[in-house]
Amino acid sequence: MKAQVYLNVPYEQKDEAKALGARWDKEVKKWYFDGAIKDIAKFGKWILPQERDSIIIAYENICLIEGKRKCYKCGKETRVVGFGIWEHSILQEDNGKYFIEDPDDYPEQEDEIHLAWTDDESKIPPLILKYITEHYNVKSGYSKIAGKSFANHCDHCGSIQGNYYLFQEDSPISTLTPVEKELIDRMSGLKIYNIYTDSALILDWDIGYCSNDWAYTQYCKGAFQDIILSEIDEELFTSYAEMYRMV
Ligand SMILES: [Zn+2]
Repeated sequence: MKAQVYLNVPYEQKDEAKALGARWDKEVKKWYFDGAIKDIAKFGKWILPQERDSIIIAYENICLIEGKRKCYKCGKETRVVGFGIWEHSILQEDNGKYFIEDPDDYPEQEDEIHLAWTDDESKIPPLILKYITEHYNVKSGYSKIAGKSFANHCDHCGSIQGNYYLFQEDSPISTLTPVEKELIDRMSGLKIYNIYTDSALILDWDIGYCSNDWAYTQYCKGAFQDIILSEIDEELFTSYAEMYRMV
């Protein structure tokens, strides 16, 4: 599998990046890699932020997973939304060496979605952030337990719902339940919206892996919808430049 990944190359390292095969995008004004996924690791130091030792590289598309939950404060049913990661790799660093797995080595991934979230809105591509804050009651808010965090808020009373439950067994949008009926009921109540980009997305998010992650595509097949994020050309695949508001 191939992918296009944008790189954060400091000016003084441009020759090194070029020698490794990076190309310059005039419009975005960034170096990028375009080639086989297994070769991405060579460019690891320009992808992974310095303070991190692993990061998600999502290919082609990610999604929004929308479910319902009882607000802990007012008791009414409110929508909650999380991100879903389809095919992806995790770029990892260990003692200055970079590693990546090719999703082609794990073909079962194609039918799996993994729940993801971040409590820091600056880690969400701006065009996606705009969409979710316009369509859901998600914003940065304050709770005594978590402090300031980007989180779902109740559609009715506005109370912050927090993020802790998202990956837990009682999450309305996770596949984490040992009971098959519960899994089917939960999945069939979800709405899943696909977002497509023309390059890979580097996402410094939390991701959950669960042995039931095939259940999203299995049980809510009819509920998948595509979202057109682009405001420029209304193409299904949003450009990197627009995703990051460079145009
Ligand atoms: Zn409420």
